[in-house]
Amino acid sequence: MNASDESFPEIRESVRKLCAQFPGEYWRALDRERAYPTDFVQTLTRDGFLSVLIPEAYGGSGLGLGAATAVLEEVHRSGCNGGASHAQMYTMGVILRHGSPAQKEAYLPGIASGDLRLQAFGVTEPTAGTDTTRISTFARREGNSYVVSGQKIWISRAEHSDLMVLLVRTTAREAAARPTDGMSVLLVDMRTAVGNGLTIRPIRTMLNHASTELFFDNLEVPVANLIGEEGKGFRYILDGMNAERILIAAECIGDGRFFIERASAYAREREVFGRPIGENQGVQFPIARNHVQLSAAALMVERAAALFDAGQPCGTEANMAKMLASEASWAAADTCLQTHGGFGFAEEYDIERKFRETRLYQVAPISTNLILSHVATHVLGLPKSF
Ligand SMILES: Cc1cc2nc3c(=O)[nH]c(=O)nc-3n(C[C@H](O)[C@H](O)[C@H](O)COP(=O)(O)OP(=O)(O)OC[C@H]3O[C@@H](n4cnc5c(N)ncnc54)[C@H](O)[C@@H]3O)c2cc1C
Repeated sequence: MNASDESFPEIRESVRKLCAQFPGEYWRALDRERAYPTDFVQTLTRDGFLSVLIPEAYGGSGLGLGAATAVLEEVHRSGCNGGASHAQMYTMGVILRHGSPAQKEAYLPGIASGDLRLQAFGVTEPTAGTDTTRISTFARREGNSYVVSGQKIWISRAEHSDLMVLLVRTTAREAAARPTDGMSVLLVDMRTAVGNGLTIRPIRTMLNHASTELFFDNLEVPVANLIGEEGKGFRYILDGMNAERILIAAECIGDGRFFIERASAYAREREVFGRPIGENQGVQFPIARNHVQLSAAALMVERAAALFDAGQPCGTEANMAKMLASEASWAAADTCLQTHGGFGFAEEYDIERKFRETRLYQVAPISTNLILSHVATHVLGLPKSF
């Protein structure tokens, strides 16, 4: 892409400069230890990049999702990873859209400054999987508290968060009028919860993503920490998922650009049989195809973000953007690895690390089949299969 075509050029330039302080060696060392990139996250926070979605009245820059996608795209294009910090941008949306004035005052300024880390979002459970209506973590009301028991899995960054947005059942599925009723959103203060009813167990995965499993055993959460109305939590969570999908799609666009730029550079320089490998159309066409696919996906991300910022419905576009971008980045990752031959497997090139990282996004935060199911039933009017 030409620099003149890019949205938010100043933001992109500043993010690139920031990321240059965190080169491949930084990420490789963390990856080996499965350690959290604290310095990187603190620097992004200090420079205000994680508060772009928070209105100015609460200390953010209120720039909107288009600006946020530019930030995350550049983070990923630079070879860095936004997975450790992106939730600080959007998880607060549930408080912003559905919290009481007192909750907004209490939390949003701290989240904007970074004094409060709201990086954890607890929805997935081992037995429910993608069928969120089957969650069974239950919060029973006792006086001024909810008492929470149950289990969550794959909750990212729980060990690096002061607060967590938690989806629980407050009415059993069988007793609710509809399966999507009877769920509620609680804001859990991790600083007091851990050791008092909440246990966090890290899960080692193929990428460095601070994944954890959470066990709740009669954890007390003040009723004052209920967001919105009891029983309506599913709807509140769905609202926030569009922002999450669009931002993750932007990370995939950044990954795709990283792979395409690296593959092109290597194909220009690497000489085999007395000429650059990039002179062979068998090497250059896959890279060119990746560029075509990624450019189309980037337009869908831009469209979804523009709809979101205009307050228009964007569920289908957010899903389509996430699917197209995650597939385009994965295709580019595969080409980049192939273009590098054996060197693609060497840690020092950062390609195998980014290859592992970008694969996640066809599964989380929503898997491709579920996106296709959404399009089939909601857009094309085909019968629902489940
Ligand atoms: C590294 C990582 C970080 C994560 N972070 C978080 C987090 O912070 N918070 C959180 O709440 N969750 C998190 N998740 C969970 C993630 O959102 C889920 O893994 C994802 O939504 C898929 O759900 P599942 O793993 O339960 O798969 P399942 O629902 O068990 O599905 C397994 C496979 O079957 C397919 N499938 C299921 N049902 C159907 C159907 N009806 N038709 C066709 N195909 C179907 C799916 O597409 C998928 O490919 C994370 C996951 C990972 C791996």
